Amino acid sequence: MTSQIAIVGAGPRGAGILERLAASAPELHPGGIDVHLIDPYPAGPGRIWRHAQSPLLAMNSMAADVTMFTDDTVVCDGPIVPGPSFWDWARASPEVAPELRGELATVTASTFPSRRLQSEYLAWVLRHVIDDLPAGMRAHVHRTRATGLTEDGGTQVVHLEGAPPLRVDAVVLASGHLDATPTDDEHALAARAAERGLRYLPPEQTTDSDLSVLAPEETVLVRGMGLAFVDLVVLLFEGRGGRFTEAGYVASGREPRLVVGSPRGSTYHSKTHYALRAPRPPLPRFFGPDAVDPLIAAGEVDLRAQAWPLMAKEIAWGWYHELFVGHPDAVALPWAEFAGAYAALDWDSPGMLALIDSAVPDPVDRIDFAALDRPLDGLTAPDLAALQPLVRERIAEDLRQHVDDRHTAHLGAFVAMLSVYGETTRLSGSLSARSRATDMAWWQGFFNGVASGPPGFRVRELLELSRAGFVDFLGAGMWVEVDADGFRAGSTTLADAEPVRAAALVDARLPDPSAARTVDPLLADLMARGAVSEDVLIDPDGTVLRNTGLIRVRAEDGALIDAAGEVHPQRFAVGPHTTVKVAGAFTRPGMNAQSLRYNDAVARAVLRSLPAAARAAAA
Ligand SMILES: Cc1cc2nc3c(=O)[nH]c(=O)nc-3n(C[C@H](O)[C@H](O)[C@H](O)COP(=O)(O)OP(=O)(O)OC[C@H]3O[C@@H](n4cnc5c(N)ncnc54)[C@H](O)[C@@H]3O)c2cc1C
Repeated sequence: MTSQIAIVGAGPRGAGILERLAASAPELHPGGIDVHLIDPYPAGPGRIWRHAQSPLLAMNSMAADVTMFTDDTVVCDGPIVPGPSFWDWARASPEVAPELRGELATVTASTFPSRRLQSEYLAWVLRHVIDDLPAGMRAHVHRTRATGLTEDGGTQVVHLEGAPPLRVDAVVLASGHLDATPTDDEHALAARAAERGLRYLPPEQTTDSDLSVLAPEETVLVRGMGLAFVDLVVLLFEGRGGRFTEAGYVASGREPRLVVGSPRGSTYHSKTHYALRAPRPPLPRFFGPDAVDPLIAAGEVDLRAQAWPLMAKEIAWGWYHELFVGHPDAVALPWAEFAGAYAALDWDSPGMLALIDSAVPDPVDRIDFAALDRPLDGLTAPDLAALQPLVRERIAEDLRQHVDDRHTAHLGAFVAMLSVYGETTRLSGSLSARSRATDMAWWQGFFNGVASGPPGFRVRELLELSRAGFVDFLGAGMWVEVDADGFRAGSTTLADAEPVRAAALVDARLPDPSAARTVDPLLADLMARGAVSEDVLIDPDGTVLRNTGLIRVRAEDGALIDAAGEVHPQRFAVGPHTTVKVAGAFTRPGMNAQSLRYNDAVARAVLRSLPAAARAAAA
């Protein structure tokens, strides 16, 4: 009897799960399987990577750093099935839409491709996976939305918009970034803004925002300096006809003037634009399973107190390995000598500080977590105009270090951060509620700021716009209020300055995850019926610390956990809307990537959940 699987969401994660189902099906479920991929957007790219978006929007990953396929470094139970990275695919001159041929011809390993070209890669990956499905396995694409999930006996019934329901044995919710109705605060802000005739754009996917409400030449306040801000800038400046030339920014006359701030007050650190000079750092060293498994076993872990010293030591290990091996002229000791002494010392201990000071003469070569985390610390200015050159100087120096291969230690630290991130994902469920509420939120923000930044050229463009007077930096600790005259905003950096006034405010970020406020009909219904539950962090004394809004899943395989705490054996969820935070949906090749390992674990659990497989196992 053929088993049926539904994957709700056919973006990169849904496609990745299909790839892993296909890899393990011959072993775990050799009988027939029909897999139903459901998405109103094109299957493969899904919503975020759909072709129908501005051609100006780029990936924030380099061509050579993007793959959807396993390789020999990936440690997983399913078979390794290699396939081309984006860069391998692009070099093979594939057929692409006519408007993308020019870009394809010029793409290099270190290009940050447009999202539209990535869309072609992802569509190709899905076609390739479907063409190579093992005997007995078939994929069916349903170009529609799943509106509900109910049960009929042991059968899962997936309700579809405008199509008959699907009766399946297992369901994977790969729904991705969820849109949400506004929070109470956002609602109140929107209401006050509307009363006064102001314009407020709440958190949402920037590509889907109605930016036409922002008038040419008006001052617009922007809260948030991450990737949504970068998209906003692209759409408001080049998107409105402006151009970046050797001589600077050439305005179209249709752009607004942005005044932007955030808690940190600075852009995310640029992606590095160089390769490692040394071999990859030997990782994990201080924060691998040997260190993390005992913490997991102990439980109630305080991330800052118990894990961060090891995390920092691991990240700095990546930095100094690259510095000592890749730049021996910049250090005063051979690597072996430094490494031995380093390993024996605690992070941030006087001995460690003395070792680093003596072995690394130039302070720029010493990793500085505080500066990476809070780039504007110590900066103040009397007014907005005086602040601009000061912020530009810091951002420009940071950009220089991410482009000039004299500073490849940043890349060594980045590689170590990815390794640390994977371990913190495993550790997350064993943290105390308080530590998850505060420390994990901090760590995620720090990780995003350091490891998920934009390409260098976007930072350069932003500096250009700032010099031309189209973007002003408001500083760190940004605040916004509404009064009778409109929005007013300031920051701790500009504590003594007059607030900036504007009639428009953009919250430039994705909505916080929230199953309770999701606009997705399927999840909203499951939530209302208690069939999915949100991860609410509660102190032992009963105090609710934070509702993360994430859907609770079993860490090892993504099985859904309902409101009563029961694991559903046939329902799974994977992606940014769940409690298992996996860095990225695609990954650099050769990294034993967490996302590929996790896709594998989920796919194998799904196959094992199928009734025919259960029968075969019992036989
Ligand atoms: C704007 C943006 C840019 C990014 N850029 C990068 C980058 O450059 N590099 C990088 O590594 N990562 C990037 N990311 C991170 C991103 O998380 C991943 O790249 C990836 O898109 C996540 O894959 P996913 O399949 O989990 O989610 P998504 O890509 O969000 O896909 C989920 C899919 O589920 C579908 N869906 C949801 N609900 C339903 C339903 N009820 N019925 C049917 N279908 C449904 C949606 O339509 C969507 O197509 C970016 C994220 C965003 C938001």
